[in-house]
Amino acid sequence: MKNPTIVIHGGAGRALSDKTREKFVREALSSIIERLWQGLSAGAGAMEIARQGCIALEDCEHFNAGLGSAIQSDGQVRMSASIMDGTRQSFSGIINVERVQNPTVMAVHLQQARDRVLDGVGAVRLAREMRLPLFDAVVPRRLEEWIRQGRKERSDDQAQVSAPSSTEVGPDDRGSGTVGVVVRDFTGALAASTSTGGRGFERVGRVSDSATVAGNYATEYGAVSCTGIGEDITDEALAARIIVRVQDGMTLDEAVGASIEEARQRERRLAAIAVDHRGQMSWGKTTELLLAVGRTGDEERWAF
Ligand code: ASP
Repeated sequence: MKNPTIVIHGGAGRALSDKTREKFVREALSSIIERLWQGLSAGAGAMEIARQGCIALEDCEHFNAGLGSAIQSDGQVRMSASIMDGTRQSFSGIINVERVQNPTVMAVHLQQARDRVLDGVGAVRLAREMRLPLFDAVVPRRLEEWIRQGRKERSDDQAQVSAPSSTEVGPDDRGSGTVGVVVRDFTGALAASTSTGGRGFERVGRVSDSATVAGNYATEYGAVSCTGIGEDITDEALAARIIVRVQDGMTLDEAVGASIEEARQRERRLAAIAVDHRGQMSWGKTTELLLAVGRTGDEERWAF
């Protein structure tokens, strides 16, 4: 029997603007990790916990995934999700899917498929094949953000000020709140899952890191889920880089620390949570805040 460990996150970015929201986020993370821990203790495998965890986080409107996803520039929600089985070193994901409740369900389904990563066009067809009901993921808070951002961009245009740079996490943490789960089960198997509504107000067709191995990666050595500016995470190949370092002999803390430090020097805005084959947990960030909690044995650790 190996030490089971779980870490979950609900995104990274600037400090939360209000205390009530922080309380909701804390309560949501706390109850979700408790439920996952019970499942793990009852013998559920790493992939099943990664699946359940991301679905529970997607169903919670406080996060930018599933219900409560950020809205893209054309007013549409498009979500991306992935899951990776560390034992089989098998990645599957869905990119920019519209009108489903849980993109993670589709990413899990694709684990058994020949074509394991689908874009928006393929996703619509798959959702139909899977008979997934149509779902509206928009919540009032996101709609207000989108309207505000639209006004800002129009007034910027009039003032001939350039559009916000891709390194800006917008007002009200517009794009933050991506979710992720990394887990090691009682048999020592590892898995990672990540789900996002994207950066918010992005150009149609933009691909997030969350359904790539830069943002979500697992092998027999460890599992990592990232959050932050997708372009920054991709430039750093962050999740895969951390795991390769563990494989090359670094401890998990060293691998996360070195990768985050390099990213900080390049002024990236990102964060990662990780577990390894020894049952260690770790996380790191270049942002002000990372909403994460981890559990192993009796120890529960919070990142904020
Ligand atoms: N990484 C996500 C993206 O860029 C956003 C986030 O994690 O907050 O799409």
